[in-house]
Amino acid sequence: MEKKVSLHVKCPLCGKSLMDNDVILNGKPSVKVNITSENDRGVLHLCSTYGCDLKKMEVEVSEHEVVEFYCPHCNKELSTNEHCNECEAPMVAFVIKAGGEVRICSRNGCLNHHIVFKDVSSELSKFYYEYGF
Ligand SMILES: [Zn+2]
Ligand SMILES: [Zn+2]
Repeated sequence: MEKKVSLHVKCPLCGKSLMDNDVILNGKPSVKVNITSENDRGVLHLCSTYGCDLKKMEVEVSEHEVVEFYCPHCNKELSTNEHCNECEAPMVAFVIKAGGEVRICSRNGCLNHHIVFKDVSSELSKFYYEYGF
């Protein structure tokens, strides 16, 4: 059975929490980022449950358009130099409070995502401990 894990994420650049307690998705605080599309800019709320693609967008984004993600605190871009192995768009990274990074594809409509652990032994055990896998 697949376990639904709600991730608490932070900006990889300034370390501030990206969780928004005012916008609840799937019963959990959402992840808040600013995005810029070709014609618009604004706030995007993502579901914090890992693997869930529920989102709330105040921005006009065409299907399959690649958007830029920015931290709402430091306004720096959250992209990585990794590219999506399904559509080649840049992957965006958030730091998981319990350790590691969650990366999602920046293309609207592409659901590619994964978790990266830099120090597998310690971070994975912390992660397993915190989420009780
Ligand atoms: Zn930041
Ligand atoms: Zn993709």
